[in-house]
Amino acid sequence: MTKYEVTLEKEACDGIFACLTRDPRFVEDEDGLATIDPDADPIYDATGEETVTVEAGRVVATFDDDRVDETKKAAQACPVDAIEVREVSE
Ligand code: SF4
Repeated sequence: MTKYEVTLEKEACDGIFACLTRDPRFVEDEDGLATIDPDADPIYDATGEETVTVEAGRVVATFDDDRVDETKKAAQACPVDAIEVREVSE
């Protein structure tokens, strides 16, 4: 399994939703832009909560599963490069 951090820059996103069809963890937010589904089973953070954090217009979630290829496809499909996938070590 791969541990990886997914970042979505809201400022760059323009709501084309190419990502949603590649990885269902990307969903439409209330603002009409993409976000990461908080119910998408991200790993627990230091406080013991499963979290998708939103800070300064940046949505970040860390996963530990076999779905990294889907996320990479979503990132590649994004025309404005709003999604970044970074593999992190344990
Ligand atoms: S593909 Fe990129 S621009 Fe389109 S909704 Fe997803 S993150 Fe936003």
